[in-house]
Amino acid sequence: MTSPGIHLMVDYFDGHSARAHRVQMWIENGMLQLSGRDLIRQIPLPKVQWPERTRHGFRLAHIADGGSIQALDANDWDDWIRQHHLGEKLVVRAQQSWRWTIVATCVLLMVTVMGYWWGLPLAARAIAPLIPLSVDKQIGSSTLQAMDEQWLKPSQLQAPDQAHWRERFDLAVQRHAQAHLGASPTLPIQWHFRQAAIGPNAFALPDGSVVVTDDLIKLLHDREDVLLGVLGHELGHVALRHGMRTLIQTGLLSAASSVALGDFSSVLASAPALLGHLAYSRDLEREADAVSIQFMRNNHIRPSVMIVLFERLQAYHHEQTEQGRMGIAFSSHPPDEERIARFKAADLLVN
Ligand SMILES: [Zn+2]
Repeated sequence: MTSPGIHLMVDYFDGHSARAHRVQMWIENGMLQLSGRDLIRQIPLPKVQWPERTRHGFRLAHIADGGSIQALDANDWDDWIRQHHLGEKLVVRAQQSWRWTIVATCVLLMVTVMGYWWGLPLAARAIAPLIPLSVDKQIGSSTLQAMDEQWLKPSQLQAPDQAHWRERFDLAVQRHAQAHLGASPTLPIQWHFRQAAIGPNAFALPDGSVVVTDDLIKLLHDREDVLLGVLGHELGHVALRHGMRTLIQTGLLSAASSVALGDFSSVLASAPALLGHLAYSRDLEREADAVSIQFMRNNHIRPSVMIVLFERLQAYHHEQTEQGRMGIAFSSHPPDEERIARFKAADLLVN
């Protein structure tokens, strides 16, 4: 038994006629009691659907038999409803609580940050296989074209020299491919020699183009083994579609909609700009180094020879700085020490 609650004056409609009955409403014995001049009703509380609290509009409760109760005064109604804890679903109560709002905001922030760090790379990895290689191909060739127009210059290497290196590189790729029969197919590697203001460097584009700077050839002209280690790294970026994965990650939504709509024009339009300033994540660099190690092993090269690269690069950049020129280090790569340790450790696993 509960004591009779506070009475509230409302209009009651029985659901059959449009006539309003002005009644007193209160809750007693778990029933909604309505009592007016010409009418008395008892309605089980579960049969009444109370409206969620809003700032504006009608206060109207529906009754399962088709009837309804309408407020005469919104403020009185709200007070009455609040006192009886009616019509407040958790969401509404939460919306009205500052503490809840702050907690929800923090959780949302955390989920967003976690999604950015872990979710996006995973999503990109999952989406990439859905994108046909023909898209990588288009992106790569249009990007190289844009770079050639903007900052790459024709190589100063003599044609026979270029042919010699191309042949050596192709041979190494063949050996690697033979050792990896059954691996997922990738686009064939194409070597491009260029002169560029980025010093000794090489980078890969999604279509399998690997650009090698004259300075890199100059730096390692007597160390084909080390050069192959560098190119094996770039091969890793191609084989694992790091360019495409990073593009997807950078513009995940537009890429996802491209997959859904089969329209890649927006990806194609933004790719050259994005790839031009591309820095692969540390994880992707690690993956590319792992491919490089495999590539060297398949070519009977000890991975630790890569130490020569870091030593010579350091000397090169030191010299550039001495001469007052700004050295563009491999800034996108993990600290040298980490990579040196990785290549050294790989030696121990060679049988
Ligand atoms: Zn890299």
